[in-house]
Amino acid sequence: MKKITEPDKLQKWCEARRKAGAKIALVPTMGYLHEGHLSLIEAAKKTGADEIVVSVYVNPAQFGPKEDFSRYPRDPKNDEAKCKKAGVSVLFMPTDEVMYQKHHSVFIDEKELGKSLCGGRRPGHFRGVCTVVAKLFNLVQPHVAIFGQKDYQQVQIVKRMVRDLNFNVKIVMAPIIRDEGGMALSSRNAYLPKDARENALSVSAALAQAQADVKAKKRIAWAPYRTQIVRNLRLKGLNVDYVELVEQETLKPVEVLEKGVVMLIAVYAAGTRLIDNAIIQ
Ligand code: AMP
Repeated sequence: MKKITEPDKLQKWCEARRKAGAKIALVPTMGYLHEGHLSLIEAAKKTGADEIVVSVYVNPAQFGPKEDFSRYPRDPKNDEAKCKKAGVSVLFMPTDEVMYQKHHSVFIDEKELGKSLCGGRRPGHFRGVCTVVAKLFNLVQPHVAIFGQKDYQQVQIVKRMVRDLNFNVKIVMAPIIRDEGGMALSSRNAYLPKDARENALSVSAALAQAQADVKAKKRIAWAPYRTQIVRNLRLKGLNVDYVELVEQETLKPVEVLEKGVVMLIAVYAAGTRLIDNAIIQ
């Protein structure tokens, strides 16, 4: 595995491999890698890619001024070992100085899908995401890029950016990897004290319950159902940021819980923001 820290070196390496006919897959991450990230690398292999590029970069542009950028968990040595073991071709670990040069003044702003959900609560978050993802696409020019369903809104926004700005890359969404209790794996789970973790399990439990209820009853009025979920989450001591039901691609709110809609939850557990979602089958 090659470790690259300079954007121009990454660009040159990728260009040479592409010219030689290699299919390149990109897996963007913020590091502190867990099984969820590793599943994206496996999904990248399944696309038939010859080279897998993983980026590990805690992107300051996607954090708000009061968010956890400086204390976001980092473990570059461990990330490197995991990528090596997983058969990654290139690990890209740049510094802020090379990613955002002095007077960096160009950003990408998606204007529709990012208004609600996490975008509504974290102003500027998706502007930072789109900008860094576009930069990575320009550096790697991957044939395919893998993103996790865990960040559902992010995948839809990246797909919209690819469509609207004509990036020549296929976006693959990989399923959410959960721990044995059902909780979606996240680097931020590292912040959680034991009791908060137990309370946070009610988030994935609510999603699983909704799935089971749709299987049994087919169509359920959302408003009263949502009220009950919010009440239950609060009873567990969670600070509810949102509980929403939307269409898969437009992210427009819907009124009926039924097959094909997406249910998304964001909560704070002991001060840590957690998100999870389910595409109702
Ligand atoms: P992050 O490092 O949290 O920015 O995540 C990097 C990529 O991994 C994103 O595409 C996430 O959606 C994805 N990811 C994070 N957690 C999981 C998970 N539990 N299962 C699947 N993918 C995940």
